[in-house]
Amino acid sequence: MKRLLEGYAKFRSSVFPQAKDRFRLLADRQAPDALFITCADSRVVPDLILQTEPGDMFLCRAVGNIIPPYGTMAGGVSSTVEYAVEVLHVRHVIVCGHSDCGAIKAMIDRTALERLPLTAKWLGFVESAWRHLDPATPNDPKSLHTGLIHANIIAQYENLKTHPHIARGIQEKTLQVHGWYYDILTGAIEAWQETERKFIPLEQVAEQFAAEPAAS
Ligand SMILES: [Zn+2]
Repeated sequence: MKRLLEGYAKFRSSVFPQAKDRFRLLADRQAPDALFITCADSRVVPDLILQTEPGDMFLCRAVGNIIPPYGTMAGGVSSTVEYAVEVLHVRHVIVCGHSDCGAIKAMIDRTALERLPLTAKWLGFVESAWRHLDPATPNDPKSLHTGLIHANIIAQYENLKTHPHIARGIQEKTLQVHGWYYDILTGAIEAWQETERKFIPLEQVAEQFAAEPAAS
């Protein structure tokens, strides 16, 4: 807690004064271009990884970066998706999983879930990931863990598309969904390519967005 309070003191004394104009613009409105949905893991820091600032991204964090399929649960993730699309009109929705995800590890070794009934129930939404596991995944624990993390990104990407406002946005070409994998060890991001059924380095897909107009 001491570290948090020291951080707050620094924010008030030096960080906030320097960004005062930006915060004044943001005080009563927001227009983020993207909704970023990721795990609660402390090692995944979206504003650091993407070098974004206050107001840039609408953020949703949930264990295992799970997005329940539409209609199965009227929870925080689904309402965040709804608000981001219907009110904020975000143009991109990114579901981002990460290496060494404890939630996905618990899907492989369920002993960790014995004392966590709520988590066990929530992770039921990861079951569909097994269908997306690359059959070429080696059977050792580390490879299986990483393979299932990737498969879960695909599963949650598919769940996202069951939400009618997302499906409509895709159909009307006002919105794109993205599935990303973030590697904590290397800092690299891989992006799911639905048509080619594979993950590729984010750098390789960056070019197609180079011509995109700046967010309003
Ligand atoms: Zn995680």
